[in-house]
Amino acid sequence: MTDSGFSDQTNRGLESSPLARAYRTVLQRLDVAAREAGRHAADIRLLAVSKGQPAAAIEELSRLGQRDFGESYLQEALPKIDRLGDQKLIWHFIGPMQTSKCRDIAAHFDWIHSLDSAAHADRLDRRRPAHLPPLQVCLQVKLSPEPRKSGADPDQLPGLARHVSRLPRLRLRGLMTIPEASPDRTLQRAAYARLKTLFCALQAAGHDLDTLSMGMSADLEAAILEGSTLVRVGQAFFGARSVG
Ligand SMILES: *Cc1c(COP(=O)(O)O)cnc(C)c1O
Repeated sequence: MTDSGFSDQTNRGLESSPLARAYRTVLQRLDVAAREAGRHAADIRLLAVSKGQPAAAIEELSRLGQRDFGESYLQEALPKIDRLGDQKLIWHFIGPMQTSKCRDIAAHFDWIHSLDSAAHADRLDRRRPAHLPPLQVCLQVKLSPEPRKSGADPDQLPGLARHVSRLPRLRLRGLMTIPEASPDRTLQRAAYARLKTLFCALQAAGHDLDTLSMGMSADLEAAILEGSTLVRVGQAFFGARSVG
């Protein structure tokens, strides 16, 4: 386990905090799942979903070595991003998109995982400040026909990917999905396998993609078995949430 740096954290005397213990447990789950999949844990990026959490919790994870943080609600995220501006963190917007949010997302985030329309893509592209690198983009895909759910339909993906890939201030990195929750590992894997198939089809069409954003606290093992390169973990760090 020395390759995961656990002993390092122990030396810093942080092992007794609940968040530090939860962090270690998540790293171990990643490690075990990667092994089971015949993959390397280092190839799977860990996004800590800090929605609903105070800046102090993000700071503590940052001290433990966590760099990537995901937020779903702009009003909540902006003050935290501002306050933690000196920590060199990487901020991912993973929440529902609206036209009115595009300017702040483009100005304050490094990544967006929830892009699902050409109009929002155009707006993000126009709003991305010139001094920042291109906004890193995953397209959100809707795998089941739930009317309220965000995400592009699978048959819209080729056109949307072509559109985004032509925008100079966006960089298309891959796909994201939030499947219907299920305790059944087989069903979890089936949804993620579908996203992987869509991802491979875009690669075959010439898109240079490297990010499959799939897997959350309850199903990250299934996602890793199906090729996830980035898991988005909230509750496994911070405990159960009442909303969101
Ligand atoms: C809240 C959220 C997560 C984290 O889910 P957990 O069950 O807390 O791990 C991941 N992805 C998205 C898009 C979310 O909104």
